[in-house]
Amino acid sequence: MVLDNLGSSLRGSLDKLRGKSRIDEDDVQEIVKEIQRSLLSADVDVSLVMDLSDSIKTRALEEEPPGGTSARDHVLKIVYEELVSLIGESTEIPLESQTIMLAGLQGSGKTTTSAKMAWWFSKKGLRPAVIQTDTFRPGAYDQAKQMCERAEVDFYGDPDCDDPVQIAREGLEATEDADVHIVDTAGRHALEDDLIAEIEEIEGVVQPDLNLLVLDAAIGQGAKEQAQQFDESIGIGGVVITKLDGTAKGGGALTAVNETDSSIAFLGMGETVQDIERFEPNGFISRLLG
Ligand code: GDP
Repeated sequence: MVLDNLGSSLRGSLDKLRGKSRIDEDDVQEIVKEIQRSLLSADVDVSLVMDLSDSIKTRALEEEPPGGTSARDHVLKIVYEELVSLIGESTEIPLESQTIMLAGLQGSGKTTTSAKMAWWFSKKGLRPAVIQTDTFRPGAYDQAKQMCERAEVDFYGDPDCDDPVQIAREGLEATEDADVHIVDTAGRHALEDDLIAEIEEIEGVVQPDLNLLVLDAAIGQGAKEQAQQFDESIGIGGVVITKLDGTAKGGGALTAVNETDSSIAFLGMGETVQDIERFEPNGFISRLLG
């Protein structure tokens, strides 16, 4: 169990348990309060925080620490296990031929993520291609093309065509030599009916193996509605959190994971193609509690 970077208040509350073999309700209450504070300020949904608090309280008071385990380590283990069960392991990404479609609002980081993921797959020895179907945002084509050149991966887009479905169809044909197809889609400033209709049409042509919802780490309560809508229309199998190199902690993504019954696949850590990491629960939990 690795939980470094715990916030100092939480560490302080846990340290009060040092030397104790049993913990009482006040101890647990104090620790749970600190955890709530950290998670709420990291944008984790209130009801998720409450559910988590209840499970931690119940287990910390009911379960006996195994022989030789201090009360502190026991509580820490419970906190960690409950957070892992909420957050889950990373989305499984098989290293084989597949088609992945990215969904999300404009500015969430889809285009950047498509090139980053292609770079990631290429480093794993596969041949990825990015298909850029965003005809809505001016500049999306050039941005994707440039990033794919930098990542040295195949790219298809058509700046003269305004039909994303046609681009998707032609893109799949044009990049048939690739193993992994990553389809970038257009966003909107807000969830609008035409966005949902468009992505459903693209999905019908592309038939992705996996749809990933791309979310800015700074998203708070808005994550819920987006996750619901995209999940209803195309089915979301995983979440990408972008801009984690900033100060936002990305707790909103947990709402999306919970709503879509999925998991987190990748983290975006910067603006260049290499700034991508596979999600890993330990580091993320430390960050949320930090
Ligand atoms: P899209 O509209 O969803 O395709 O979003 P873009 O991929 O164009 O990203 C929107 C802005 O966020 C761009 O300026 C990107 O450079 C920036 N961006 C995307 N991902 C990250 C990230 O992980 N970290 C940082 N710092 N910026 C990012």
